[in-house]
Amino acid sequence: TTFAELGLCPELVAACDAMGWTAPTRIQAEAIPCALQGKDVVALAQTGSGKTAAFVLPILQALLETTPRPFFACVLSPKRELAIQIADQFRALGSAIGLVCSVLVGGVDRVQQAISLAKRPHIVVATPGRLLDHLMNTKGFALDKMKYLVLDEADELLHVEFEKALNDILKVIPKDRITFLFSATMTKKVNKLKRACIRVPAKLEV
Ligand code: AMP
Repeated sequence: TTFAELGLCPELVAACDAMGWTAPTRIQAEAIPCALQGKDVVALAQTGSGKTAAFVLPILQALLETTPRPFFACVLSPKRELAIQIADQFRALGSAIGLVCSVLVGGVDRVQQAISLAKRPHIVVATPGRLLDHLMNTKGFALDKMKYLVLDEADELLHVEFEKALNDILKVIPKDRITFLFSATMTKKVNKLKRACIRVPAKLEV
């Protein structure tokens, strides 16, 4: 399979070429066609599988098809470094379309993050605690217009340290959205989160 055969538009196929990627990985080949049809995706995926591009590419394609380009997607990550890597992939694959992406993680100046939110990013990649902090304290920032939620490393997002923030975030985001849930393991807690977040039956599980 090629990236074009998955249904990706020429701009994004070119962006994958520019990354030096010759063919989709397994998770990309399975998740991208479903995601492009507007389905929710639940996937068991490890780091190194190419899971990031499996959600970045369909979100960018949906964004490309939308004008004007609003605030569009929120990605939750349990780790700062992972959040930064995800944002780097959004920026690399989205550079040709002028993508603006903000990273909201702990240990970084809140004011700088608030300034980056004022630039009206299309995408926010965040750890749960800092995202909630901005939702409560940064004027003008809200998630009520978002179309996509990504829960990356969902099993780790369910650790006690994040659980309350995650639940609070899930309460304030639109119910009418598309959700992608990626997890290295499918535990009882992940299944419960899946039932709370994923629409039935429109979903793919790989
Ligand atoms: P991830 O599992 O998303 O953390 O990705 C692991 C690494 O694989 C990253 O460095 C990506 O840039 C790279 N990658 C993602 N998709 C592909 C692909 N289709 N072909 C080759 N490398 C890829």
